[in-house]
Amino acid sequence: MPRERTKVVKIGNVAIGGGNPVAIQSMCNTKTTDVEGTVSQIHRLEKAGCQIIRVTVPTLEAAKALGEIKKQISIPIVADIHFDYRMAIAAMENGADKIRINPGNIGSDAKVKAVVDCARERSIPIRVGVNSGSLEKDLIAKYGGHVTAEGIVESALNKAHMIEDMGYDNLVISIKSSDVLMCARAYEMISEKTDHPLHVGITEAGTVWSGNIKSAMGLALILSKGIGDTIRVSLSADPVEEIKSAKLILRTLGLRKNGVTVVSCPTCGRTNIDLIGLANQVQTLVEEYDDKDLKVAVMGCVVNGPGEAREADIGIAGGNGEGLLIKKGEVIRKVPEAELLDVLREEIEKF
Ligand code: SF4
Repeated sequence: MPRERTKVVKIGNVAIGGGNPVAIQSMCNTKTTDVEGTVSQIHRLEKAGCQIIRVTVPTLEAAKALGEIKKQISIPIVADIHFDYRMAIAAMENGADKIRINPGNIGSDAKVKAVVDCARERSIPIRVGVNSGSLEKDLIAKYGGHVTAEGIVESALNKAHMIEDMGYDNLVISIKSSDVLMCARAYEMISEKTDHPLHVGITEAGTVWSGNIKSAMGLALILSKGIGDTIRVSLSADPVEEIKSAKLILRTLGLRKNGVTVVSCPTCGRTNIDLIGLANQVQTLVEEYDDKDLKVAVMGCVVNGPGEAREADIGIAGGNGEGLLIKKGEVIRKVPEAELLDVLREEIEKF
């Protein structure tokens, strides 16, 4: 279902679905009971561009801590619940803006209903999350004895229908798999069968290197079909890395306007400055300028430098221990290598 045709769901002050911009999520890797550490991580994530944050709520102490955390942050907070329905209720009583449950591991229908009733009273959306790793045995058997996109989709829809039958449809669905192609196929299939907003991501994608590649490939396949209302890039890393990657994926697909795009050359024997070091410093630098919408080219020499820089708003083309500063295709001046980063920062700020 293309994004504009999904229903709008409000998670705190963030509306998703119905054609709203794709929202970026992450999850804290602190102990939720460590209020100070969790708030500090959420502030870093918020600064990086995170729009919705999830924390785990495995105990009543964590649910109470969620209430304290919520007072100190300004983005909506989602409680991640497994196994114990009482944690879902406690999280909502303590201010969770959304809960994420897998009804399959919550227990009896009565327990799920208690959670749904509490969510309905407070108009709190529920994300029904299904992971390929916890697919029910009967659905594995039904589809050939192994995990399939069909099985994951059926499982998620069964759970969404169960909650709908309890009279509540303020839902978001996610179906995660670490198998990129299966995941993309499952999202394509489910998007044709539901108008609930979809949270998308490749789960357990791996380290920064492999996770970024798998997430970018999977999310490109899914988002380019107009599917997906919120995303998470799941990495075994500092969650701030997830936000940086999510922003770049959305910008690359044209789903997000703001931000600075960096193009840089791969370097070759003609390079006479520390171009790789500079490109990395520039990439880090531009993360601070989410409010800008521009392209910066960092090129190693004058062979392709001025050409690439012409396409960019600001560029540098390396020389011997120096670089040419180029703006909108026009060479402005020569800058000593040691000053290139500062000059680029000044030029970015002027935009
Ligand atoms: Fe080599 Fe220049 Fe091309 Fe960079 S821009 S790869 S230094 S030829």
